[in-house]
Amino acid sequence: TRTALYRVQNPATGIVVEEFPTASDADVTAALASAHGAYLAWREVPILERARLVSRVGELFAERAEELAAIITEEMGKLPQEARGELGLVTEIFDYYATEGPALAADQPIKAIGGGRAVIQKRPVGALLGIMPWNYPYYQVARFAAPNLVLGNTIILKHAPNCPRSALAMQRIFDDAGLPPGAYVNVFATNGQVADIIADPRVQGVSLTGSERAGAAVAEIAGRNLKKVVLELGGSDPLIVLDSADIAATARIAFRARMSNSGQACNSPKRMIVTGDIYDGFVAELTAQAAALCPGNPADAGTNFAPLASPAAAAQLLAQIQDAVDKGATLHTGGSYLDEAGSLVAPTILTGVTPGMRAYSEELFGPVAVVYRVDGDEEAGALANDSEYGLGAAVFSADIDRAQRIADRLDAGMVSINQPGGSSAELPFGGVKRSGVGRELGPLGMDEFVNKKLLYIA
Ligand code: NAP
Repeated sequence: TRTALYRVQNPATGIVVEEFPTASDADVTAALASAHGAYLAWREVPILERARLVSRVGELFAERAEELAAIITEEMGKLPQEARGELGLVTEIFDYYATEGPALAADQPIKAIGGGRAVIQKRPVGALLGIMPWNYPYYQVARFAAPNLVLGNTIILKHAPNCPRSALAMQRIFDDAGLPPGAYVNVFATNGQVADIIADPRVQGVSLTGSERAGAAVAEIAGRNLKKVVLELGGSDPLIVLDSADIAATARIAFRARMSNSGQACNSPKRMIVTGDIYDGFVAELTAQAAALCPGNPADAGTNFAPLASPAAAAQLLAQIQDAVDKGATLHTGGSYLDEAGSLVAPTILTGVTPGMRAYSEELFGPVAVVYRVDGDEEAGALANDSEYGLGAAVFSADIDRAQRIADRLDAGMVSINQPGGSSAELPFGGVKRSGVGRELGPLGMDEFVNKKLLYIA
């Protein structure tokens, strides 16, 4: 029997809107055959033509932005203005790889020591599996699909079970853009079927964005089958404020970054590390900002703070907050539900978090800012690095050299100075330590699933 794992349940109301049966094994077999068959033809298509079709994909995301935005507002509760922002970024990502991709994939000649000619040719590897999460349903897919389609790889996509409508809307876009059938295939696969797909010899790699639990499970299967992985996993990014001419303004910037997408971003500044002289003003401004939000159903005009994607996510976050409070942390505001459906968690400001509390070491995937007070740059850097994660980090200071000295010491895949971490088509994205393996976006995003093939001519 095929269970309806994939379903749309509006987090703001709790109402189940639509259910989709999971793929049959025959569907999975057909997806594999189709993605592999498409690869054999797609790799022969000139790269400029592939880029043209990928550019058309970007145009369709832009043309359909309003309807696509409405889908994710209902599926995972994103504010309409944030959904439009996500779609703008998606369009930029397809544009970027359509425009820059052919040059990024160009041959690289090498000086051959013993004479002759040598060149590295960037060639596609085959069908790839993408496993994606629900927090940015379109963006996560775009940053995997765009570079790989331009390269000549094809894609089998397994999306998060709460995003079936956005998954199908993307399938339609790739089809309508004129990509050959099989170049992009959505499958509502079970985890068991995912294991079969990874093991299939026609599949050459797997890219997963999601939790460490998912990353480890998938990497284990991939390892057994000698398949390359890219893993974009969790984070607990520090945002360090060393000094500030305008404490309230800096706190507002940090607050907006933390509460964006209701805190459900991998590179959200989850730990704010603030030096002693500005700490009190910083915490006071964060707390004031939390009180000024209008939480509610994202479909209602006037709401500027939305629920989490599911009651399970909210329950997990509240348990992490409660654990900290039970062990002596201070709750300045928040820490409770604001709705009947059980998905809307009040924006929360926590201080006094210490080792031994879940909030110290675990990722808080929701609207919680933990603020730490430190005595100087040394302590700020050490606390920032005291995490199993190493995704992004931000450092604020009027003294750029001082900020850069700390930035140099941070174990992170990305550091930004005087701005919270974000994402942009041309800037590589990814982490170290338990935040993952590999990079997406920018030139490096085209460097993962590629056969760097040596051609040597004597
Ligand atoms: P998740 O529960 O790990 O799910 C992510 C995807 O992995 C889903 O499609 C899920 O499908 C699949 N999955 C999980 N276990 C699997 C298994 N054993 N075999 C095959 N597929 C499996 O993550 P989430 O809750 O959706 O996303 C939140 C997490 O993603 C956070 O930790 C966040 O930091 C991280 N994230 C990281 C980045 C980054 O770039 N580093 C970006 C965004 C989010 P099923 O539910 O069907 O198992």
